[in-house]
Amino acid sequence: MDILIATGNAGKAKEFREMLGSDGISWRDLSNFRQLIPVEETGTTFQENARLKAAGYATQARMWALADDSGLEVDALDGSPGVYSARWAERNHTGSGDAANNATLLEQLRAVPDVKRTARFVCVLALSDKTGRIVLSARDSMEGRILHAPRGSNGFGYDPLFLVENLGKTTAELDPDQKHRISHRGKALRKLRELMKEAGIGKHSPLPRM
Ligand code: IMP
Repeated sequence: MDILIATGNAGKAKEFREMLGSDGISWRDLSNFRQLIPVEETGTTFQENARLKAAGYATQARMWALADDSGLEVDALDGSPGVYSARWAERNHTGSGDAANNATLLEQLRAVPDVKRTARFVCVLALSDKTGRIVLSARDSMEGRILHAPRGSNGFGYDPLFLVENLGKTTAELDPDQKHRISHRGKALRKLRELMKEAGIGKHSPLPRM
């Protein structure tokens, strides 16, 4: 069975590749489908956007598709950047891309003391069949705190600013495997794989006895 990992974000695609074993499923990514039109994230929740992306790419590629919508919720900003995490600098007219997003967030939190810099990464996954019907979804999160300056060079996005308190490291200072064990995306993906197993999705039917 082929399933398309429906993300144009190189950081996410890399993480999915690292986490997904094959066990009967052939995972494809958008690099094999350059003709597909990017699906617009017009929803106002992670759930809505994950469903839009999974269904939008599945119907275009005529293939099952797994989409992730994720982001950073900062308590001192009432949950922002949230669904706008990827375009936070653009929304604030301060540039674009990961470095500008991080600089914008640091500026907004400049006067916020450590105890109030609590935050979480959230990930919602949606799995669509070929017709655009959402068959399964899963959600998970990871708690942390926003530092005053970036640390570490692994990962992507806001990882250099996101401190995992009990490890004393940012998610950009963790090895990929360490991050996947505790991350919002790792936990949501393990939940979804369990649901897929229970539903028999991707399971090869046993060979008939001769
Ligand atoms: P979207 O789901 O494509 O709308 O974008 C998610 C955005 O949230 C990314 O571009 C990052 O800015 C941020 N994000 C989501 N997951 C992570 C993560 O694991 N590490 C760092 N940033 C993340």
